[in-house]
Amino acid sequence: MIVLGIESTAHTFGVGIIDDRLNILSDVRIRYNPPKGMGMEPFQTAEYHSRYAVDVVKRALEESGLSVGALDAVAYSRGPGLGPCLRIGATIARALALKHNIPLYPVHHAIGHIELVRSMFNLSNPLVVLVSGGHTTITAFRDGRWRSYGETLDITVGNLLDVFAREAGLDFPGGPVIERLASKGVRYIELPYNIKGSNFQFSGLLTRAVQLLNEGRYSIEDLSYSLQETAFSIIVEAAERALASLKDDIDSIAVTGGVASNNTLHNKLVEMAGLHGLRVYRLEKKWNSDNGIQIAIVGLRMLEHGIQGVKPEEAYILQRWRFDEVDIPWM
Ligand code: AMP
Ligand code: MG
Repeated sequence: MIVLGIESTAHTFGVGIIDDRLNILSDVRIRYNPPKGMGMEPFQTAEYHSRYAVDVVKRALEESGLSVGALDAVAYSRGPGLGPCLRIGATIARALALKHNIPLYPVHHAIGHIELVRSMFNLSNPLVVLVSGGHTTITAFRDGRWRSYGETLDITVGNLLDVFAREAGLDFPGGPVIERLASKGVRYIELPYNIKGSNFQFSGLLTRAVQLLNEGRYSIEDLSYSLQETAFSIIVEAAERALASLKDDIDSIAVTGGVASNNTLHNKLVEMAGLHGLRVYRLEKKWNSDNGIQIAIVGLRMLEHGIQGVKPEEAYILQRWRFDEVDIPWM
């Protein structure tokens, strides 16, 4: 079985093709970078995607050496994400499915991140730390769904890093730039640390960090270091709290999403996991960022499980959609 997946929730328009032995037959992506000092404007981002989308599909097919006729299904990211961007992906998926009469599967973007790391390491009962621009959640699989055992109550950690970087006049995406600066930081500056039960908040942390930045008293290196230390310690503490309530069953920790590429966060997780006799699993950097394969792999699971696809006219999008609303019958 061969499935093509289309990712288009935000900055990345990606097309990936995978087979049922989890061979990656192609992975092509383009990424919209907003002009310096700007955030991601949905319509501008979508316009960028629409300009390159057909070409990305063609290149992905070429790279795989397959024709559309060889595909057993097409999967697309239904949400959550930026409406205009989601519509580009859904439209292309509908066109492919309709013209070639192949099943069409709508996929939750976060389930894609989770399923990819779970499948690639063949994990049976992981605690998943999902850290990205769209999500910051600690999750485990219980009773047919991925359930939240702790999450941000306001902005995501990716958002925290990107907005702080923008305020500091740094490039987008902010995460990698802050990671580099933080490695040269020497002094920890105390910042708001908000965790309540297993849930947490970052907006107070962002406000204070930006305030200190504008006051100009501290170096950007020390601020980046302190921002990372604070935000990542919160996430690791939340993960440890989740573990405490789930521990008997959890047999590994997986970290995924764009921010998973950060080595400081990874090291903190490894240290915490070690105390509980667990290993931390993380994919190669490029698979933490948004990509078509994460969507294709969920489509593949649905197809393998005999789930009916949607009709092209019902292939709508959902800008807001929680991952714990999604039934996962294949696990
Ligand atoms: P995603 O939404 O899954 O594409 O993840 C994108 C987010 O990951 C953005 O907020 C980036 O700033 C962040 N990111 C990427 N690389 C790193 C890194 N090395 N450290 C921290 N954040 C990162
Ligand atoms: Mg993502």
